[in-house]
Amino acid sequence: MDFAHFIGGQWVADSDVTTNRNPANQDDIIGTYARGGAARVDEAVAAAMAALDDWAHASPQLRHDVLEKAGALIVERKDELGRLLAREEGKTLAEAVGETVRAAQVFKFFAGEALRNTGDAVASVRPGVEVMIEREPVGVIGLITPWNFPIAIPAWKMAPALAFGNTVVMKPAELTPGCAWELANILEQAGCPAGVFNLVMGPGSQVGARIVEHPDIAAVSFTGSVATGRQVAVDCAANGKKVQLEMGGKNPMVVVDDADLDVAVGAALNGAFFSTGQRCTASSRLIVTKGIHDAFLDRLTAAAADLVVGDPLDPKTQIGPVVDQSQMDQNMRYLALASEEGCDVRGGGLGNGNGFFMHPAIFAGASNAMRVSREEIFGPMTSIIKVDDYDEALAVANDTEFGLSSGICTTSLKLASHFRRHAKAGMVMVNLPTAGVDYHVPFGGRKGSSYGPREQGSYAREFYTVVKTSYIAP
Ligand code: ADP
Repeated sequence: MDFAHFIGGQWVADSDVTTNRNPANQDDIIGTYARGGAARVDEAVAAAMAALDDWAHASPQLRHDVLEKAGALIVERKDELGRLLAREEGKTLAEAVGETVRAAQVFKFFAGEALRNTGDAVASVRPGVEVMIEREPVGVIGLITPWNFPIAIPAWKMAPALAFGNTVVMKPAELTPGCAWELANILEQAGCPAGVFNLVMGPGSQVGARIVEHPDIAAVSFTGSVATGRQVAVDCAANGKKVQLEMGGKNPMVVVDDADLDVAVGAALNGAFFSTGQRCTASSRLIVTKGIHDAFLDRLTAAAADLVVGDPLDPKTQIGPVVDQSQMDQNMRYLALASEEGCDVRGGGLGNGNGFFMHPAIFAGASNAMRVSREEIFGPMTSIIKVDDYDEALAVANDTEFGLSSGICTTSLKLASHFRRHAKAGMVMVNLPTAGVDYHVPFGGRKGSSYGPREQGSYAREFYTVVKTSYIAP
């Protein structure tokens, strides 16, 4: 089946297409998706500009109703959409259905936020004058999304953008256009007026780059790699756009001697390997104090070896495929590098079948100075770094150019509190995997991981609105 762009309320085909393949079975073709360029972005921005005034001034009830309906339609179709997600991205069906439900929850949350866009009334320093502070839409917003959460990330950018009265041009990752296309379809069914939401599919170098430079796009929200994100920020600044970036992580999980071993192994297994390690919040550095190190390493090695790698649609599967050949090549380069750098590599073999299957790998005996412990790999691999005590663990945890999520496993309230206050990260997890977050609270990091205001929850309003201060003399 052919899937078209969605521009100005119309489905617009392109002669050029991208074939969307299942990473678990390269013969399984999900569909062919229109592959646009700069000209399609220009059409979409023109449609979004034309729709902006009406949408920005529409009753919040209308915006609420569209988002609420979209959330309801996603829930109704969760199994089918989850299956599509699993087929195009490769995470297990359970994870994919969970992510789909998450997308619905996000739409429903922001349906409510549309009604809660409150302002302030302040007494003026001038007698008889009133001051009001309100939040207005930013304008046309460009959304650029990655492949690893192909329904949740588009949802958590689209929903707040629309809730606060902006119009949108979205470009999904080329590897996973299917879920984004379904969201456009659902918004149309939910009664979203023509031009308010526009979908343009195609390569980042053309579609993404045009979104970033287009003079009528007022703000860009981007999630993806550090290299691309930094360029997007530079280009947005040069073009005077507001920008929000979510990029990589090299998230530490500290395990101290007093940790509950079952909890620590469970959190590490989930954080490092679930979703095939393809999460920016993945636990890619396990920093373990010497008293518990050997027991933890033995238990984790055994548990990782038992994880079932295979077809995401098989309910027994715990780890789906790597997303594509290029990510697989990168994983293999890091696997070889771990040995070259002197790690004791456990696991990491290739799986069977016509897909990009690999077994989880543990880099025992790693140091924090090694490249495998400093660079984001984005695969089912994790470094184990042995340290003397908690103080060293905390120092190693913070010794990274990233700062997204940071975790500790401990039964000591004192250490947990100290870690929570001293971790240089946007999110802290105690006795939980570094990945796995709620949808109604802020998501984001520090240092090289994020830039600009937070995403999600009520904090999303900061990016998707601009402040107006009015002075009124009656
Ligand atoms: P990943 O390695 O996760 O694919 P990328 O940063 O390459 O990360 O991609 C994230 C998103 O950014 C994708 O939608 C991609 O198409 C888009 N993108 C890639 N290059 C550019 C660019 N030069 N300008 C804008 N967007 C881009």
